Amino acid sequence: MVTPLDSSSSSNHPDSAAAVESPEALRLAENLWIGHHRQREWFRNAIRSGRLGSTFLFVGPEGIGKRTFALQLAKTLLCERSEPAELAPCGDCSACRQVAAGTHPDVLQVRKPDDRSYIPVEILIGPREARMREGLCHDIRLRPMSGERRIAILDDADVLNAEGANCLLKTLEEPPPRAVIILIGTSLQRQLPTIRSRCQVVRFDPPPRDEAVEILRLHAAAAEVSEEQLRAALDAADGELSRAATLLSEESRHFQQTLHAVLGDGLPSAVELAKLVGGYVDAAGSDAPPRRQRMRQVSELAADHFRRRLRAAATSGTLSGPSVAEDLYRLNRSLEMRYQIDRNANQATLIEAWADDLQRGRPGS
Ligand SMILES: [Zn+2]
Repeated sequence: MVTPLDSSSSSNHPDSAAAVESPEALRLAENLWIGHHRQREWFRNAIRSGRLGSTFLFVGPEGIGKRTFALQLAKTLLCERSEPAELAPCGDCSACRQVAAGTHPDVLQVRKPDDRSYIPVEILIGPREARMREGLCHDIRLRPMSGERRIAILDDADVLNAEGANCLLKTLEEPPPRAVIILIGTSLQRQLPTIRSRCQVVRFDPPPRDEAVEILRLHAAAAEVSEEQLRAALDAADGELSRAATLLSEESRHFQQTLHAVLGDGLPSAVELAKLVGGYVDAAGSDAPPRRQRMRQVSELAADHFRRRLRAAATSGTLSGPSVAEDLYRLNRSLEMRYQIDRNANQATLIEAWADDLQRGRPGS
């Protein structure tokens, strides 16, 4: 039996379905389609005309909601209250809730284990001692336990190697009746030709910015996150939704509050600032990309802090004097840091120089 993915361990996949609760359920469920209306229409037409295929390959950039869409489709096909042709699962019945929680017995979800660089064949055809008696290819053929269909969602199709693909071929070629198999990858080029040719390809594009903000808001539903924080996170993550969602995590938001406190109303302390930011960047581990991402976030947040201060000065009619000139410098200096990060400068030196400049409020000699 393929274990359903534990939805609580989905920190790498913030595009997993958000927990949906009534009475907001309907609105939230509707929102889960955000950014992918074209794909939704396509499935609606396929289901209405009774031509829904069995094997799909979802491709599109990381973190834009392909997996959420796949889970929405699973809910659509299993919902106890709404007709599949509506493509509007209620989000509230026990089937919808089980899909959202990753516990529906007829929804099989597999992905690459964290400690492997490809999808092991055991996941697909069972361990050596139980070949073809366990694994995704076996389980998808079992009779549905509660719904009328079985649905398999295979994440990380990009790292399906030739051996794994071979295991899947027969299942993709002759899928069991009423089964739906969805493979998820980032681009068509990264899929093996044997897989590509046996699936209907559904392409996903990054959603427009306003819709991206809405999707983020949905994922941050449990937390109090302002519109500004959502947009700042999206900017810091270069528009990548899953990374932006990480920036909206509790740790990250705690840091933001502390940063604003240290930057304060007047003169920021260079020592305190460098220590705070250094610690935050170090907490991201030793890999360069997450460290750079935090640095970018810091520069955005700091720039935002001074932008706000300048705006307040403008509103109160005090937009002159040395402190305004200093804040303008601090704003530009924080924006400048963002470019320096991308040029791979030494991060510790970068942070210290920036903190010194911010305290001084003008270029150093
Ligand atoms: Zn439902």
